[in-house]
This record gives sequence, structure tokens and C-alpha cells, in this order.
Amino acid sequence: MSAADLTRWDASRLAAALQAGEVSSVDATRAHLDRIAQVDGDADAGVHAFLHVAGEQALADAAEVDARRGRGEELGPLAGVPVGVKDVLTTTGMPTTCGSRILEGWVSPYDATVVRQLKAAGMVIVGKTNMDEFAMGSTTERSAFGPTRNPWDHTRIPGGSGGGSAAALAAFEVPLTVGSDTGGSIRQPAAVTGTVGVKPTYGGVSRYGLVAMASSLDQAGPCGRTVLDTALLHEVMAGHDPHDSTSLPGPAPQVVAAAREGASGDLRGVRVGVVRELGGEGYQAGVRARFDEAVALLTEAGADVVEVGCPNFAHALPAYYLIMPSEASSNLARYDGMRYGLRVVPDGDGVTAEQVMAATRAAGFGEEVKRRVILGTYALSAGYYDAYYGSAQKVRTLVQRDFDAAFGQVDVLVSPTAPTTAYRLGEKLDDPLAMYAGDVATIPANLAGVPGMSLPVGLADEDGLPVGLQILAPAREDQRLYRVGAALEALLLQRWGAPLLARVPEQPATAATASSTTEARA
Ligand code: GLN
Repeated sequence: MSAADLTRWDASRLAAALQAGEVSSVDATRAHLDRIAQVDGDADAGVHAFLHVAGEQALADAAEVDARRGRGEELGPLAGVPVGVKDVLTTTGMPTTCGSRILEGWVSPYDATVVRQLKAAGMVIVGKTNMDEFAMGSTTERSAFGPTRNPWDHTRIPGGSGGGSAAALAAFEVPLTVGSDTGGSIRQPAAVTGTVGVKPTYGGVSRYGLVAMASSLDQAGPCGRTVLDTALLHEVMAGHDPHDSTSLPGPAPQVVAAAREGASGDLRGVRVGVVRELGGEGYQAGVRARFDEAVALLTEAGADVVEVGCPNFAHALPAYYLIMPSEASSNLARYDGMRYGLRVVPDGDGVTAEQVMAATRAAGFGEEVKRRVILGTYALSAGYYDAYYGSAQKVRTLVQRDFDAAFGQVDVLVSPTAPTTAYRLGEKLDDPLAMYAGDVATIPANLAGVPGMSLPVGLADEDGLPVGLQILAPAREDQRLYRVGAALEALLLQRWGAPLLARVPEQPATAATASSTTEARA
């Protein structure tokens, strides 16, 4: 088999071949590093999913796993499999920038718990993936180090903030990645790249070493090309962590077993609710069409499908865009030019600490981060706190109640993950509200702390780009996402005959080719 083939394998297939000794981790890692060298490019061209590639370290780690396997040591199911980590999780031996100049070159003195778990599982971390600065954005264009491009079409956004983690999968640069989801940053990039992404139940995966944006919403989670792969990574990451006070006690959900069970395609007895408020007006026709077909497949699989109303979801978006900036403005106060990364000292004698802070933050933060720090500071200020932050918290409770009522009637909820397919790079950069509106379907889950998955359900007719379906479940019932997701995936695969990602073009459209098509159309 040629090395290039290995990059086309799902993580579960690769893991089985590694276990059987048919493939070495060094070979698998080298194949993926070659692929990265071939397609990832840089800020100017290529996918640009990675901000940092740790090739030598990865090969050394892979050799170590091979040696341990050779000695007959008991290894975890994903031992030797390459993985990419969003640059919002701290790593020793590699920089952690959060896509920001303010942390450029900063190396953490400790590994995030999730990173420690990957290492303990014998997974090979090949590098850190690109993201919107401090995870604020929906396109990865807000990375201080240049955008990631969608492997389906390089003139399109890969979603955000975790566009790097999703694009790396769709471009076959790695079979698994870790993301983080505060308002949709795992699920929306999964939707627009045709990959799978899961935001676990809040507290289900440790936040220790996940650089804080909005602590009551932030959640790290797994990204993969299939539901089963995503489940395998989820089990590596899940579980209680004494270093995170919001980490849930008790056993982690059995998501791998659920994915295997779902793969039979039998959903008899499962009650599915279609969220009335997510999916009608404002959703692209091709998104609606693929979503409706997928819902029909769920019915064919034996699920009981009903429509469910969640009236307060209409207010989730404005509530999120008050709560998130409020928490972020407080969390980002630590970048003061004293403790981490960048320090800008203005010229002249007698410069004060305050002047250093102001100069550092002015130079180190990008436009969107500044916008949110200002918004959040305003929303929390005396005299406005009740009107803004207080009201948003009340809406949050109402959204939680909508979920409680809905899950009294059904086992899972479904909706389109995002209202549109991948739009063009630059299209919404000057219109923050239009960009925020794309998060309408993903945000309720973060406000309520419930788990959510996005999986691909086809390509929109009008642009040939991937459409994602979102599944939501009650808190601590993450396994339901995998049961239903794996069933839908199996039925779609039967219909398509090959995975959707087999259709990612080897030579995607670039800015040069796209402008000629636009001319041809005009
Ligand atoms: N797009 C959302 C935002 O900009 C989500 C970000 C996230 O989940 N990290 O806030």
C-alpha cells in the first residue's frame, strides 16, 4: 500500500491496522506529515489548517508507541494514531497562541488535561490547528496568522472558530482533531466542511488548560471524519478531572458502544424532535432540502419524528452575545503585558505599568477581540449590569427550560447545524451581526450545557457544498448523539455508496480559478 493511502483511512481502520501490526505508527505519522507538507501551505495559499507542525517530535512519539507495541505492552485503542489539537489547548514543547499576536511564541509550562489524555492514550500529536483569535469568530479569518481555507473550495470559509481542526480532517491531513465549542466552534466548522464534530455535555471533558474565553460556555470536544472515530476520541477525552471544578463527577458516557449500536441503522423506539424555531425562514434552500431528506431517513429507520417548539431559542443569540463578551472581557484581562507573551513598552522615561498594558493590548489584540472586550465591559458596568447581563442570564434560564420541556417529550432534538453552507472568505468580515447570525442554531446548546453533534447529510444543490445536521441530547446523555448519528450516517452511506468526503476535490478552486468562474458566469 502506498503511504498516501494511509491518509484516506478513518481513525478506526488505522487503529485496527496498527493493533494488528500491519502498519507502524511511524509510517502512519510520516504519511500524514507528507500530506500536510503537500496541501497545508501557509497564510497566503493552501489549506493552512495548522499554525504549528511538530514533525520531529511526532515521529519520535510514534517510534516510542511502535516500540511499546513491539514489547507487547497493553495500549489504548487509538495508540499510534495522529491527531491535531486546536491552538486553544496548552501544550508543553509546542507554542499555544490561541490565534493571537498577544500569545505569539508563548509556550505553556503545562499540558492541558485533554493533551495529557491524548498522550496517555498513545496518540501522536502532530501539531496545533488554526483558529479565530481567542475562539471569537465563525470563519477562522480572525486568526492573527491568516485564514484557514475550506478544502472543498479554497475561496470559502472553513467555519470557525475551529476552522483549522475541521479543515485538517476534510483535507486528509490528520484523521482526528480536538476542538473547542463555546457557541458552535466545533459543530459549525464540521457542518461546512462535511466532517463530524461533537460538543460534549458541559463538564464532560476537562477545561483545565483550555484557554478560557467564556468559562460558563466553553467545552473541548472531539472532531473526526466518521461518527465512530469521533466516539473513539471522545472516550479518550471524557471523564472527571480534579483540576477543573466544573468537571462532572461519575463515569463518562459509553459513546463508542452507542456508535456501534447505531451503525445497524435501526432507530425503532427513538423519539426525535425537529426544532420548529430552527430551520425555516433564513435557512438556505439546499440546507433545508438535505435536512428534510435526513429527517425522512430517520423516520424510515423507525424513529418517531415529531415537531417540537422551543420558543425561547429566538432570544438565545442576543443573550449569548452579551454573556460571552462579558465573560471574555473578564477572562482576557490577564493579558496585561506582564505575565504572558507580548509586552509592548512605549518609548520615553517613567513609563507606567498602565501604559505598558494599554500599549500591549492595543498591539496584541485584533479587532474582533477588542470589540468583544468593549461590549462585555459595557454589559457588566454599574448601571447596565441588570439591563444587559442580568436579562441575558434570565433568557439563558428560559432556554434551559425549553430544553427541559422538549426532552420531556423526545429523546433527541435535530436541526440544521448552520443556516448556510460555507460562504466566501471576506463576505461577512465587515458585518459582525451577519456573522453572529450564523450561530443561531448552535448557541442554545452552549447556554443550556447540553451536548450536540454535527454530521454531514449531503451537498446543497445550489453550490455543491456540505450541509450539516445537528443532534442535541439532554445533559449527560451524549451517547444518544452517537446512536442516532451513527444510524443516520450508515443510511446515508448506503445511499451515497461512498463517504461524502471522497468528493473533496484534489485541486480545489483557488482565488485565481474562482475569479475566472465568476467572470464566466457574469
Ligand atoms: N461563532 C461563535 C462566536 O464567535 C462561537 C465561538 C466558539 O464557539 N468559540 O462566539
